Amino acid sequence: MRSRKKVVILGANFAGIACARRLSAHFDVTVIDVSGYFEFLPNIHELLSGVKSADVLRLPRRRLVETLGHSFVCETATEVETHAGYVETASGRRYAFDACVVAVGGVNNTFGVRGAEQFSLPFKSVDDCVAIAQRLRDLVTSGKNVSVVIIGAGLEGVEALGEILRGYRNHPGLAVHVVEGSERILTGRDARLGDDILQHCADFPVTFHLGESVASLTKTRVKLVSGRSLPSDVTLWTAGAKPSPLLFSSGLAPTANAWAAVTPTLQSCVAPAVFVVGDAAALPDPLSKQAYHALDMGAHAAGNVQRYFDGVPLKPFSRGLELGLIALGDVDTYLTVGRRIFAGPSLAAAKEIVFQANMARLDPPLGRSPAVGLGQRYWRGLHRLALPALRPAALRKSLSGLRVIAG
Ligand SMILES: Cc1cc2nc3c(=O)[nH]c(=O)nc-3n(C[C@H](O)[C@H](O)[C@H](O)COP(=O)(O)OP(=O)(O)OC[C@H]3O[C@@H](n4cnc5c(N)ncnc54)[C@H](O)[C@@H]3O)c2cc1C
Repeated sequence: MRSRKKVVILGANFAGIACARRLSAHFDVTVIDVSGYFEFLPNIHELLSGVKSADVLRLPRRRLVETLGHSFVCETATEVETHAGYVETASGRRYAFDACVVAVGGVNNTFGVRGAEQFSLPFKSVDDCVAIAQRLRDLVTSGKNVSVVIIGAGLEGVEALGEILRGYRNHPGLAVHVVEGSERILTGRDARLGDDILQHCADFPVTFHLGESVASLTKTRVKLVSGRSLPSDVTLWTAGAKPSPLLFSSGLAPTANAWAAVTPTLQSCVAPAVFVVGDAAALPDPLSKQAYHALDMGAHAAGNVQRYFDGVPLKPFSRGLELGLIALGDVDTYLTVGRRIFAGPSLAAAKEIVFQANMARLDPPLGRSPAVGLGQRYWRGLHRLALPALRPAALRKSLSGLRVIAG
């Protein structure tokens, strides 16, 4: 009897789990992740105001993976030996593969700013946001004035700001400073979106420092290159991500600051048996680092792993529609569909549906208990609600009551 082909997946969040879900249990699939919980990162900002709790945003990885008929290992991968065909973990164990899917995302990037690692709080995981939420609560309940500095006004910085406004804008002594190196917020997106957010924030105790870079941090101050110095009781670092060191150490990236170059079929440019997906991958035609692209890439890689084993031509990955929902707390929510932008607080419901539907799809109910039956109905209900809402006709109808920021 022929032995089963071995597949190792490194990283089990959006891209890794999407890949695992599509890979047949006829393969011998091992999924390795350093942490035991899948985390729905696009909604972790909601921990800051307390509208969501940590348990709602997480799913146990072992259950997700074993339900699919695969094995889960909770460990840090330290090396992908691309030519010998194995992955080594921190404990020294080796996992041989015929194909490997690398889906390790990125890590926080403080760009070497002095004091940043020590005195700012990162914004990259559920635990990070739980720590920020706790700090904010402690400061506000102390009754003193509170100065919050958010470094970075990309998607993460804006959504963090929105949640701080949702939770604490009525606290009399609150001041929020947002520092951004470029001249506008949400760079890379239509300027009208950023302008609309700035207009909303004019009603709140928020100061934007645009075109300003951070020189250094201390426990109580953020010093800018321009010489200005901002008081800070809590500093959030949302200014960027860099590649996992695993990519360079395994020879998948040419330098420590580079993402792993892949072909259009998502195979590593240096090792065809290794696929790199999600944020970790650098496609020839660059893609924004978004969860929906990661999900699509993970699923696509699974199909190509099968084709690779079958010895048939692999298919190039094609990007889906750029579709985003950006929340500014309870102040407003924005829907971006390609170049079009709509706004309205009612879109918060759409963001919630996307979250709920994705969580339910990742964690479908098992067994026959009443609670599970309820879960199944819930899932089907969400399926009916969520998916047609994303079809063009239904989408147009639900958009009719919204402000058009860019049409
Ligand atoms: C605060 C925030 C808000 C966001 N909002 C949105 C949004 O609104 N919409 C959107 O589409 N996207 C959003 N994103 C981006 C989105 O979350 C990412 O694009 C997506 O998570 C990428 O998925 P991934 O699977 O490639 O990587 P990740 O989700 O980062 O997963 C990587 C996994 O690899 C594991 N791992 C890393 N290194 C190792 C190792 N050495 N060994 C074992 N395991 C390892 C990690 O534990 C992790 O589970 C947001 C991101 C953040 C941080």
